[in-house]
Amino acid sequence: MTPGVRPLVAGNWKMNGMRGSLHEASAIAGQYDWSLRRAIDLLICPPATLIAPISRQSIGSGLLTGGQDCHAAASGAHTGDLSAEMIADAGGSFVIVGHSERRADHKETDAMVRAKAEAARRARLVAIVCVGETQAEREAGKTLAVVRKQLKGSIPEGMNAATLVVAYEPVWAIGSGLTPTAADVAEVHAAIRADLKKLVGKEEGAKVRILYGGSVKPSNAAELMAVENVDGALVGGASLKAADFMGIVAVYRK
Ligand code: PEP
Repeated sequence: MTPGVRPLVAGNWKMNGMRGSLHEASAIAGQYDWSLRRAIDLLICPPATLIAPISRQSIGSGLLTGGQDCHAAASGAHTGDLSAEMIADAGGSFVIVGHSERRADHKETDAMVRAKAEAARRARLVAIVCVGETQAEREAGKTLAVVRKQLKGSIPEGMNAATLVVAYEPVWAIGSGLTPTAADVAEVHAAIRADLKKLVGKEEGAKVRILYGGSVKPSNAAELMAVENVDGALVGGASLKAADFMGIVAVYRK
């Protein structure tokens, strides 16, 4: 945690969730009670088809919604794509950019991720910029170099704590049940914090939320969320079931 920084717990539903999942979203919203609302921001990034219905049914609950990706352009001939403005129009207030699955499946480069983060700002969405090393990069001792390069290349100039969140997600930890040690997470988050102060300025860089993501679950959330400079979590698999997601969020009740 960073003193004075409001944590964010974000669920990334990926390509999971049909209309029936509205029940899970409403269970999450229902459990986001006043004591939690005082403590944290809570966000679900469902598939694009569910942003509008979840946003609509969550009105008054404080539960935030967002997209999992956006195109860099505001509109145009880009079949199958979604603009940041469309996410905002559907009720979203955040968008994940540069998730490792996008970087791998769609060959997204740092420059493309930066353009998407710029699009997010243009549409008044908060960009959650993801960075993280692969297993091979970790084994080669390149974790910090890879993360710092992605960060520098993916963050547009002029961002601040209100427009930017960074998520550190080791690729090998995503969906694998494996997590880095608390000491490893602390080392990477400290490096991200130091670089953010250079990239967006000392004052704003100290306040940008840095999330940890990769196999966060109720049983390890307390340890991971207690690490210095870990200002919340980006949660994949465990965000699909309200009981698991709220089990993670519960660490902030204490
Ligand atoms: C993710 O893909 O953003 C993620 C963190 O997934 P999981 O929690 O399932 O590892």
